[in-house]
Amino acid sequence: MAPSHVLKCCQRVLAWVPVVFIALVVAWSYYAYVVELCVFTISSTAEKVVYLVIFHLSFVMFVWSYGKTIFTSPASPSNEFCLSKADKEQYEKEERPESQQEILRRAAKDLPIYTTTASRAIRYCDRCQLIKPDRCHHCSACDICVLKMDHHCPWVNNCVGFSNYKFFLLFLMYSLLYCLFVAATVLQYFIKFWTLCRRKAAENCPKNELPDTHAKFHVLFLFFVAAMFFISILSLFSYHCWLVGKNRSTIETFRAPTFRNGPDKNGFSLGCSKNLREVFGDEKKYWLLPIFTSLGDGCNFPTRLVIMDPEQVTVSSQNEPAKSSGANQPFPPTRPLSESQNRLLASDSQWVESGPEDENVKSGTKKHIIVSLES
Ligand SMILES: [Zn+2]
Ligand SMILES: [Zn+2]
Repeated sequence: MAPSHVLKCCQRVLAWVPVVFIALVVAWSYYAYVVELCVFTISSTAEKVVYLVIFHLSFVMFVWSYGKTIFTSPASPSNEFCLSKADKEQYEKEERPESQQEILRRAAKDLPIYTTTASRAIRYCDRCQLIKPDRCHHCSACDICVLKMDHHCPWVNNCVGFSNYKFFLLFLMYSLLYCLFVAATVLQYFIKFWTLCRRKAAENCPKNELPDTHAKFHVLFLFFVAAMFFISILSLFSYHCWLVGKNRSTIETFRAPTFRNGPDKNGFSLGCSKNLREVFGDEKKYWLLPIFTSLGDGCNFPTRLVIMDPEQVTVSSQNEPAKSSGANQPFPPTRPLSESQNRLLASDSQWVESGPEDENVKSGTKKHIIVSLES
């Protein structure tokens, strides 16, 4: 076996370490809560039953959404985004970036693409040899182009993108609920054990109500671990709630997508309610279940209209999406929102002459200096 293959195999195995770590922590928390707390520590039967029922509900939802996030393969662009054999050969033969762009522009003519690189070039992945749909990015860890890529998450050893973003959000939400429930119900026993320890340390320990067994260790740690995870996941979950409301991916917060009239970080935002439906679907009964209900095909996203003034770039208000964008459009739009105004590829003048590396872009009469972040 070649050394590079061995290295790749090692990398693949090592990538599972964070997932195994989380799985071990979850398995231990299950044992500690069910056996050590509920069976050995709690004496009231009613309390035991109520705790166990709620615990198992949150545990099942948490494990289900976590599993779906891990094992749902990231969605890749369909074949229509791949260059034809003839175009591919021609593209590889060409050395001048302008001519390559010309080939890509021709190939992308009938594709539902509204965004470009910062330098107004067609977004093309050399590695996968395809034209990237809007919001699609190449993941170096997975080595594929991922539709609506959000980020590559080591804790699930998977790319979070169009195919599993809903599952990822539910995983965060149910892990928060799980930690909150565990921490809240363990708290009183945590305090009892804690004070018990202190009394014992002072060698002034009265006959206590709680069994002074190994359960003490588990209950003390259970509270610490649940509280620690709750605090760290809370900030991540809040951030992703904000992203869903704005219809932005994590990548897009760092690098606004470039539309016909320039970068627009709110370019895909249709208003909070529609943004939420784009991820969770139209039927509310499925919102809390880790079942795929996201709208669209991952390649084609409704955008809000960006109005271009030759002297000044003005962007339509995000609060008035109905006038402009996909509010009254079917999802995904069967045709681009407005062929003349939204079709990026319609006008030849949209494309720069000097290739994707050029950082100075002329747009209308306004000159934008944009640092190209596209790889
Ligand atoms: Zn790629
Ligand atoms: Zn990835």
